[in-house]
Amino acid sequence: MRIALLVLVALSAFATAGAGELTQAARARLLAAYPDDLARIEDGELVWRDGTRMPLDDGKGEKSFADWLNDPDIEDTLAVPYPMGDLKSPPAKDVDPGRARNAAFFDKIYGDCRKGAVKGKLTTVVWLPKKSGQRLPFSKINGAARALEAVSQELDRLPERFDAYLYPSAGTYNCRPIAGTRRMSAHGHGIAIDIALKHADYWRNAKPGKDGAYAYKNEIPTEIVRIFEKHGFIWGGKWHHYDTMHFEYRPELAGGGP
Ligand SMILES: [Zn+2]
Repeated sequence: MRIALLVLVALSAFATAGAGELTQAARARLLAAYPDDLARIEDGELVWRDGTRMPLDDGKGEKSFADWLNDPDIEDTLAVPYPMGDLKSPPAKDVDPGRARNAAFFDKIYGDCRKGAVKGKLTTVVWLPKKSGQRLPFSKINGAARALEAVSQELDRLPERFDAYLYPSAGTYNCRPIAGTRRMSAHGHGIAIDIALKHADYWRNAKPGKDGAYAYKNEIPTEIVRIFEKHGFIWGGKWHHYDTMHFEYRPELAGGGP
């Protein structure tokens, strides 16, 4: 009975957040993804090059989905593995790899736009120079704009049938909270792009079923997703709470790391 109960408790908790839960590979990926800022992980803390220390684990234990999303520690943001490559099946209920962001971490890397600390870190990326030429502001921190530029060059070479998915881009930098929340969007850090609105699907426009799950919808071709992922972007189409026009630069999760 006691064992059965423990199993139930383990299943009902959404993300494991205990100390030491993060694999060595995930730790290595995190450090490798932000080489200008992060020095090492020591005694359960992330040690920044400027000497700042942040705990990987906030000690709040296992979290519900809502707490994982709204108040993740650094470990929580890496706890749900991001599946690279072609989507085999729709994401399971509440599986949103990369959707939880630790605000202190991202504010420190890219700046807090509400304090005017992001605009000066933006540069311009020319979106699909041959096809579109739209000028998009994007963060130059940590190679984000360089990565988008590489994506843009590759997408520009795709056949014409992909055009309607790609441009005009629905936007990049935008200092705003995520719709329906007070959490800052990755767009506020200048590291997210929405491709064309025309074929976009968004969970907020769907009605959940009886079990609270959203029926998955996507029209974005996998060829486009693969190019973004190769350069360190994750795709909102791999979230149960899908946002299929949304890509964000998260090299700790994507990019073919270890
Ligand atoms: Zn977006």
